[in-house]
Amino acid sequence: MVRDAVAERVGPAADRSLIRAGERVLLIDGKERHYLISLRVGSSFHTHMGIVSHDVLIGAREGATVLGSTGRRFVVVRPTLSDIVLKMPRGAQVIYPKDLGAILVAADIAPGSRVLEAGVGSGALSMALLRAGARVVGYEVREDFAERARSNVGASMGEDVSYRIEQRDVYQGIDETGLDRVLLDLPEPWRALPHAERAMRPGGILCAYLPSINQTTELRGALEDSQFGMASTFEVLQRTWHIEARSVRPDHRMVGHTGFITTARLLVR
Ligand code: SAH
Repeated sequence: MVRDAVAERVGPAADRSLIRAGERVLLIDGKERHYLISLRVGSSFHTHMGIVSHDVLIGAREGATVLGSTGRRFVVVRPTLSDIVLKMPRGAQVIYPKDLGAILVAADIAPGSRVLEAGVGSGALSMALLRAGARVVGYEVREDFAERARSNVGASMGEDVSYRIEQRDVYQGIDETGLDRVLLDLPEPWRALPHAERAMRPGGILCAYLPSINQTTELRGALEDSQFGMASTFEVLQRTWHIEARSVRPDHRMVGHTGFITTARLLVR
């Protein structure tokens, strides 16, 4: 009994909940506002709800409540990938978490999958792909976005991932060969189809994310005339609920539209 209690305190489970200097954490105040901060010894975080010393957070356990200078309470947890995507600096529009999850499954991303992603934008999809264990090469036409994505991905994934971004236009060609997956989040993905056909291995999955159905129809037409088959298109609607004792109902607001997801597979013809 005694030994178990000690093991629980010093074992890996206990260690994993301890927050360390250099980590990013999410602070949540009494009004459910979220703040994403990076912890540095001696620093402090200022909000109109009071000041929180980083030193109080360093060494706290994830899930703990800490006190700010004015006696306000903040819950501290590590951010999820979804928290990071919604809070990180963005240049281009990011793919929303509800769609990121669906894309990982629809494109069947697995550890070791060789993926080409274009355009990379702010790097939200890159992070989800790397989390799933993929090896990712990104083509991004704008150098400033490429730079932003490198820093966003570096900050949350570290250096221990297989990730490279090249500043280039995917409509001009793809140098990689034998790719398992090609993911396209840009306005005219049909222009990349001939290159994807040559760059992918048979059986590979192409997945495109498009905001309008006109673009999606154009892509589906181009897929018809290509070596790809088994095309499929869907969208994801996510409705959150308000749950309180006497009021259980859908929330009044929801994200009504983000984008259409289309997948297709490279066939041997
Ligand atoms: N999926 C990204 C967002 C991509 S936004 C995320 O989750 O964060 C679309 C991006 O495509 C923009 O950054 C734009 O610069 C890039 N882009 C547009 N046309 C391109 C092309 N032909 N080749 C490479 N990138 C392109």
